[in-house]
Amino acid sequence: MADVSSPSGSFGLTEDQRLLRDAVRELAQERIAPRAAEIDRAGEFPWDVKELLAAQDIFALPFPERYGGIGADLLTVCLAIEEISRACATSGLILAVQELAALPILLAGSDDQQARWLPDLAAGRRLIAFALTEAAAGSDPAALATRAVRSPRGDHYVIDGGKRFISHASVADLLIVFAVTNPDAEKSHRRLSAFVVETATPGFAVSRLEHKMGIRGSPTAELTFDGVRVPAANRLGEEGEGFAIAMRTFERSRPGIAAQAVGIAQGALDVAVNYAAERIQFGKPIGELQMVQALLADMEAGTAAARASVPGLRRDRGRVTRGCPLGVAV
Ligand SMILES: Cc1cc2nc3c(=O)[nH]c(=O)nc-3n(C[C@H](O)[C@H](O)[C@H](O)COP(=O)(O)OP(=O)(O)OC[C@H]3O[C@@H](n4cnc5c(N)ncnc54)[C@H](O)[C@@H]3O)c2cc1C
Repeated sequence: MADVSSPSGSFGLTEDQRLLRDAVRELAQERIAPRAAEIDRAGEFPWDVKELLAAQDIFALPFPERYGGIGADLLTVCLAIEEISRACATSGLILAVQELAALPILLAGSDDQQARWLPDLAAGRRLIAFALTEAAAGSDPAALATRAVRSPRGDHYVIDGGKRFISHASVADLLIVFAVTNPDAEKSHRRLSAFVVETATPGFAVSRLEHKMGIRGSPTAELTFDGVRVPAANRLGEEGEGFAIAMRTFERSRPGIAAQAVGIAQGALDVAVNYAAERIQFGKPIGELQMVQALLADMEAGTAAARASVPGLRRDRGRVTRGCPLGVAV
């Protein structure tokens, strides 16, 4: 069988991208893959893997150099997420969620806000989660009900409400919280603002963790906000810009989640190919049987097609670019 482990020579990876991919692949296969089954069985966040990613500067990939990051382009970040997810889906999500939830600060944070929060996130000293979804607002985030009411003196907001399905909120130090600040805005998407909230703030609680079928080491949390007081200095952008910040974040973070799915598919293909080579029936490996070969070929074709669609053709700020070369270093 062809080298099914080679994501995308056809994308014309640069030498740096190939080296990075190969280094992450080696690390993931040697240090993370042996932990994967136990992480899934235990259903607990793998703090040791988080420390490994921090020590190896993998958290630094999507962050600008001026904040201690590496300033890697988005395709490179996707390659890293794919290789980690190929070994362990939970572990791949650690990098993907850190990138996703840091993006609102990268895209809309002031210089002061970026200097305050990004160095710890790039170093992996602190984790961050992205809290948009609510019980009645999933695909339709403009329908959020969580409120952020500004104090009469204007120096802080008080947040009340709840969130659901928030990855890593129970292990994060920081949350990006989207809440309604302008309930009477004419256009529903102008109702929202985005805030950076410290999870240690009184009134914040994790009320429930989801019981999941897979990616079980990645906690998915239900949250309550009961009079959570947040400094006005923690608001990202202007009031009413929250929806736009969320959408700009998704434009750049969705390829990472797609890369995670490709990594999971590749990992399943690796296991199937190895098993087909080892398992003997009728005196020969089952991989020599035509019908089994057809199944493996279908898996390889599906995985390659999915990988080819990850970087895609993007339109960004008026320019059409291939391979997500703009990265997140805005
Ligand atoms: C494991 C996991 C982790 C998550 N992590 C996070 C996180 O970190 N942060 C966060 O904010 N959210 C997170 N989410 C929430 C996720 O973003 C939502 O599940 C998603 O937005 C869909 O919302 P919903 O589940 O309420 O589905 P619904 O919006 O209720 O949709 C139900 C079905 O209707 C379909 N549908 C909805 N609208 C349309 C339409 N206009 N046209 C056609 N079909 C439509 C949907 O495709 C879906 O099949 C997570 C979810 C999961 C499962």
